[in-house]
Amino acid sequence: MAAAALIRVNRELAKDLGLDADALESVDGLEILAGNRVPDGADPLAMAYAGHQFGGWVPQLGDGRAILLGEVVGRDGIRRDIQLKGAGRTPFSRGGDGRAALGPVLREYIVSEAMHRLGVPTTRALAAVTTGQPVYREAALPGAVLTRVARSHIRVGTFQFFAARRDHEGIRSLADHVIARHYPDAAAAERPYLALLDAVIAAQAALVARWLGLGFIHGVMNTDNTSVAGETIDYGPCAFMDRYHPQTVFSSIDHAGRYAFANQPGIVQWNLAQLAQCLLPLIANDDDLALAAAQSAIDGFPALFEGALTAEMRRKLAVRETRDGDLALAQDLMSKMAENGSDFTLTFRGLADVLDPPAGLPSDGSAGPRRLFKDPAAFDAWADAWQARLAAEPLPAPERAADLRAANPAVIPRNHLVEEAIRAAEDNGDLGPFEELLDALSRPWEETPENVRYRQPPRPDQVVRQTFCGT
Ligand code: AMP
Ligand code: MG
Repeated sequence: MAAAALIRVNRELAKDLGLDADALESVDGLEILAGNRVPDGADPLAMAYAGHQFGGWVPQLGDGRAILLGEVVGRDGIRRDIQLKGAGRTPFSRGGDGRAALGPVLREYIVSEAMHRLGVPTTRALAAVTTGQPVYREAALPGAVLTRVARSHIRVGTFQFFAARRDHEGIRSLADHVIARHYPDAAAAERPYLALLDAVIAAQAALVARWLGLGFIHGVMNTDNTSVAGETIDYGPCAFMDRYHPQTVFSSIDHAGRYAFANQPGIVQWNLAQLAQCLLPLIANDDDLALAAAQSAIDGFPALFEGALTAEMRRKLAVRETRDGDLALAQDLMSKMAENGSDFTLTFRGLADVLDPPAGLPSDGSAGPRRLFKDPAAFDAWADAWQARLAAEPLPAPERAADLRAANPAVIPRNHLVEEAIRAAEDNGDLGPFEELLDALSRPWEETPENVRYRQPPRPDQVVRQTFCGT
């Protein structure tokens, strides 16, 4: 057996989960994290699921390169799954090797942990190891395993698996399990399975609003990559935008732009409609009644999503009170950003500098986001409207700037930095850039002299235009 080697144990997460980080870093721990040894008392399994991939139905998918080791209850009292991703073949591997390459493992580690620090519901990375065995893709690449932690790995596609087989009892057991595990309040509702659907709809609406507030593009929003627990799951060709454009796509396999940035809410609604379809037999005995109730739940998604997005945008613009026109104000800024090719993260982050210029910068706002716009006057016109809106709820400028800096991150996992960390690891076995990037991303709200390079957009020669699933 080739020698596995530790890349990293997420010690802080291990502690939160009540696990012994030292034990995970030991020789025995490494064997477990590499999938070479089953932990005492564990009974690993691969889960079956189905799903719509790019809108096309696939009746059988499943954990083809993942193995569920078991569950732990963390110090917060929440039960979570621990899963190895890339540990070898399972009954669902089809033609695949069940393995993962180092690059995608590092990418998932970096981006999922960054999302967590940004306050977005997400699966986490507990550890990454190299296996010592090559995996063969377009070239031989170092093999690696990610230890993923999730509230659960139950997807819309898990429900679809049973629905497609008309296994009503299977769907009922699964739904009861999800209610007990994630949405216990639904059990007491008049129609528990409709309440379950409502809860998943609400969780997903809130989740996608967070993505849109950060310029995040998931990239493969297939129904099998949509968690019923409402966490971001399956980091493949995902990416954060640098320059804002609503139709941005990075994934090399998303030719039609189905999962483009601005399409994400509509796609989630479509995925939720697939879940609703699976739950119909449980919602009511009468087919028409069940359909009407499910349809009305799904029809409620756009309003729920808009509410969540409006709240997100209010935070990003630092308005605390609710007024008509707040979302339109944010959308006006974003359409000007799209027209002017301005950087998503820097524009929002820079709003604080308009109100509270950092020491040494001119106080007339000229050093703020306007410089990111091809036509700086476009920003000025918007900023006048924003200032007028802010005047309706006076707040001292430093306090408002603090709100803005707490809502708009300075550091996100920019593609070129993720790429740089992966290249150093894959090409030179150098994990330094990976560790340094993780460190910078652990404090996304801070601007310090040390994190300057992590806040910069890519130079033209560093721009990443395409990302890959890496499976
Ligand atoms: P994904 O695009 O990562 O959501 O994966 C879609 C499906 O392909 C899932 O059922 C995976 O388990 C499966 N899959 C992806 N990569 C591999 C691999 N290397 N070996 C076996 N199955 C895989
Ligand atoms: Mg998947």
